[in-house]
Amino acid sequence: MPKERDISLVTPLAEVLTPRQAAQLAELGVTNVGRLVAHLPMRHERLEAESVIENLKAGAIGTARGEVTAVRPVRSGRGGRLEAVLMDETGRLDVVWFNGLYLVERVRPGVRLRVTGKVQTRGPQTQMINPKIEVLNPIKDEPVEKDGRWRPVYPASEEINSAAIEKIVAKILPGALALIEDHLPEAFRKERDLPSLAEAYRMQHAPLTEHETKVSRRRLAYDEFLLLQLGVAMKRAQLRERSRAPALGISDEVDKRIRARFPYTLTKGQDAVVKEIAADLSTWIPTNRLVQGDVGSGKTVVALYAMLMSAASGHQSALLAPTELLAEQHFANITRMLEGSRVKVELLTGGTPDKERERIVGGLASGAIDIVIGTHAILTEDVQFKSLAVAIIDEQHRFGVSQRATLRTSASDERMTPHVLVMTATPIPRSLAMTLFGDLDISVIEGLPPGRTPIVTKVVSSHDRRAAYAELRERVERGEQGYVVVPAIEPGKAGEQQLVDVGTVQRALEDIYLPGKRVATLHGQLKRDTREAAMERFRLGKIDVVVATTVIEVGVDVANATIMIVEQADRFGLAQLHQLRGRVGRGAKSSACYLIADPTTEGGEARLSVMERSTDGFELAEKDLEIRGMGELFGTKQAGMAPFKVAEPVRDRELLNLARRDAAAWIKASATLNKPEELLLRKRLMKAHGKFLGLGDVG
Ligand code: ADP
Ligand code: MG
Repeated sequence: MPKERDISLVTPLAEVLTPRQAAQLAELGVTNVGRLVAHLPMRHERLEAESVIENLKAGAIGTARGEVTAVRPVRSGRGGRLEAVLMDETGRLDVVWFNGLYLVERVRPGVRLRVTGKVQTRGPQTQMINPKIEVLNPIKDEPVEKDGRWRPVYPASEEINSAAIEKIVAKILPGALALIEDHLPEAFRKERDLPSLAEAYRMQHAPLTEHETKVSRRRLAYDEFLLLQLGVAMKRAQLRERSRAPALGISDEVDKRIRARFPYTLTKGQDAVVKEIAADLSTWIPTNRLVQGDVGSGKTVVALYAMLMSAASGHQSALLAPTELLAEQHFANITRMLEGSRVKVELLTGGTPDKERERIVGGLASGAIDIVIGTHAILTEDVQFKSLAVAIIDEQHRFGVSQRATLRTSASDERMTPHVLVMTATPIPRSLAMTLFGDLDISVIEGLPPGRTPIVTKVVSSHDRRAAYAELRERVERGEQGYVVVPAIEPGKAGEQQLVDVGTVQRALEDIYLPGKRVATLHGQLKRDTREAAMERFRLGKIDVVVATTVIEVGVDVANATIMIVEQADRFGLAQLHQLRGRVGRGAKSSACYLIADPTTEGGEARLSVMERSTDGFELAEKDLEIRGMGELFGTKQAGMAPFKVAEPVRDRELLNLARRDAAAWIKASATLNKPEELLLRKRLMKAHGKFLGLGDVG
């Protein structure tokens, strides 16, 4: 083994630990000294000062150690329990772990344990219920904790537990800390009350006080925010530096002419966003704006406004929808509004016949076509515009930065790029949008157009399912239609978690709840034709109830559908439930949404009750983020989308704002971070986000 002074942050742990330890840590992704330092505790817990059993104080949290002298597994009730007796030289402690039969391997007679828990008395006996335990080394006892301390709890595995990691870290940390350089200047840190990076790591791994755990977390969270925000600001500066978009003029006259095309007055929310967009489009700085608006808030006319602004200046625009169905819907709506105008609009999708396609592509190249509506895929390939000024991407509900269309504006000038607007009903919580989409400006269409009847939402347990289906039946008998949404397509195999499936619900409807009514099923495994045919029949009122998976989340617009029942609603995220619910309440009739669920956790219950109270998609999304956390929201697959290990955008809102302001000021002063004192910062920034943000070739 090398001496301590020989280590560097990239020294493999195999060189400083036993092969076994190194292998165990490698399983956790911890392979070298630097990574070990970065392997942060998930939380800290209080390790109380130890006392002998005799001195444990009833009613307080206490810690004591002793030898297990008797063990009794009790297999009664649901999870059973494990009882044990612990003795030291002063007395006896009775311990019970409910649902603790799994401990039977570890808690055996003769084993020495340290237990921490609330001390209770039962008659003459001293007792702890469900204490935390630590099996002590039988040969070399751990030192007694005299004063109590805050102790790190690490992400661990079956092979290596948190206590073992703690010991390894304690051994390596002192040498490693000396090697950690800070990427933030001292004065900058001091102003913001942030400890140095080395101090922050020390405080996380070996805090002296609870306060230190918080101070250090703040520093590390700040760093995560700052690095991302710097990257985003850098990207924005680059865009401004390198590209130009056509500056579109707007006069009162043009504004009036455009609005005259809309069959209604814009809502206040729409009006405000239209103004922001008009201001953006009137400069040559390429617009990158995210327009958020809840389902039904009226994003289409806002998009149309921008497209007509482009047409008025003699340029072209494109509207890209996520599905052909939606592209067709947009085309129909927009054509209707532009009836009798000179603006030339075309639809281009995968379904467009070759001849037609050729004609349209020609028209875009010559400038004969002003507006093209299509799907993302179609318009990115070979289509060449004469002068594309505005590209609008309608993402509907999908999360994530879309592969921003790489549309070429003009054949003659490489630097020219269109203004880009991304419309989304995700709804992405504001706090998250600010971080992840920080290279976009954000507009929010507040409020909904007048005349909507609010949807009444009720959470019911599966016992009370009948009430929901009774209402479904009543409504169907009145000539209305409904949806039943389920999480699975087919019944699960024995042993799998039982999910309510399409087939079972369909049979239940036909046999029990809705005999004689017309029920269809809709899910992703059906062929597209079959699915669309079913949807069409539903639209025409030839089907009463559709039993579906979440395929109906977007684009389904049937005003006569007034009730939705969601089975096992706790399996869906709030944002998703909100989108689903958006399928009803589309006409003047009052609508209902039943969420059937038997949530087993407090969090699950809280989530669903939020649905009863709120129809505001943004509020719901923000709550979802608070309750489930970012990883859940994005799913593990898109881990790259959740770029923080420590920071939590909702909880750390203020820190996020601080980092945003700091990043903006920093990049303003030094756009490429190329000063010598910034090199370390720049290196860490590129490593963390260079690829994600496409910053590869800076400076
Ligand atoms: P989304 O934001 O979900 O894309 P749409 O643009 O499809 O919403 O609009 C939803 C419905 O509201 C459409 O039927 C549209 O005609 C209508 N609508 C939009 N704006 C207004 C308004 N200002 N006043 C009345 N109805 C409106
Ligand atoms: Mg829309």
